[in-house]
Amino acid sequence: MDCYLDNSATTRCLESVAEGMKKILCEDYGNPSSMHRVGFAAERHVRHAREILSETLRVDEKEIFFTSGGTESDNLALIGCAQANSRQGKHLITTAVEHPAVIQAMRHLEELGFQVTYLPVDGTGRVRLEALEQAIRPDTILVSMMYANNEVGALQPVEEAGGLIKRKNPQALFHVDAVQGYGKFHIYPKKLHIDLLSASAHKFHGPKGCGFLYVREGVKIRPTVFGGGQQRGLRSGTENVAGIAGMALAAQEVFQTLDQDFERMVGLRRKFLTGLLALPGVTVNGPTGCPGLESGADSAAAGFAAPHIVNASFAGVRSEVLLHALEEKGIYVSAGSACASRHPSREGSATLRAMGLKKEARDCALRFSFSPFTTWEELEYTLETLEGLLPTLRRFRQK
Ligand code: PLP
Repeated sequence: MDCYLDNSATTRCLESVAEGMKKILCEDYGNPSSMHRVGFAAERHVRHAREILSETLRVDEKEIFFTSGGTESDNLALIGCAQANSRQGKHLITTAVEHPAVIQAMRHLEELGFQVTYLPVDGTGRVRLEALEQAIRPDTILVSMMYANNEVGALQPVEEAGGLIKRKNPQALFHVDAVQGYGKFHIYPKKLHIDLLSASAHKFHGPKGCGFLYVREGVKIRPTVFGGGQQRGLRSGTENVAGIAGMALAAQEVFQTLDQDFERMVGLRRKFLTGLLALPGVTVNGPTGCPGLESGADSAAAGFAAPHIVNASFAGVRSEVLLHALEEKGIYVSAGSACASRHPSREGSATLRAMGLKKEARDCALRFSFSPFTTWEELEYTLETLEGLLPTLRRFRQK
């Protein structure tokens, strides 16, 4: 049996999405900026995609900007806003558990003279609002907080954070990296006080290399890519028409069954957690509860995680050893995030460290991540395989 349980790293592109993209690549291949029929056809695809995506967030079409994915959306939001608002202040706030796309952009801004506060998290990976309240200053220009953590699934208190920021410093902008939340939850930026929001198509069954950034009308932001002035000058470069249309198709499909898929994944997660915790020497990292479907206050309640991510430590077995032993049995998972595997630090996952996990627990942590296509049979097979492998691997280690 082949079990792909690495959907936080990336998801399978839907067949219908791939077909729609092929048609655009081979037939409607015009440049959306061209002033003729072929160009207009391409431009219609881009416009239609913008309509679909803006509806999912209940925002205006003008507020959607297409990018090459989550990393670019995060970079554009942070660097673009920091530079455009630097006269107002040079203080930025984020959390210690953000994706490298945010952390590294913040490090770059520090090199440019900005000051960054990295908020601590509790043992489940959730930011404490008191820490945010203390950190907001009159010269704070931007706060960036993820919707759902990519390693342990912890949901951040986004709605409360947004309200708090706007009360304490109405000038400060609020960016949310929703790469692991968009397509799993109903997220409405206007309700959550969000000024900028990042999403990435390949995390919700769309193509890789395509994403978008929601930018509230009126937000001061500068481009980070310069050229032909496409997308009202904020993001130059010929639009990835097939990718953009594919992303919108994927969003349309995912949102159609989002509520049922959510409930099913919550059920799977619950059963899988029970199975994992019944195995000797296994601890779950991050929240064990699953939220209700509504975004905001409910879903961000302490102890709740996204429905598709489970992180656990297997005492006495190093992550990479277990990862490869599972791979031999056709089960594909991650040790931490896929991006961290390119820059492995000796200290291991920064998220698990920020949550206070000891090195022994960090070194033997694995992430399992589901999609609406994941079945209980696959998870049952994974649990049985773990039950068989763990004693052998632990004995082997003791020799
Ligand atoms: N932000 C989060 C929370 C992510 O999980 C990821 C990808 O894993 C990214 C940003 C980067 O997205 P992309 O792979 O589209 O560049």
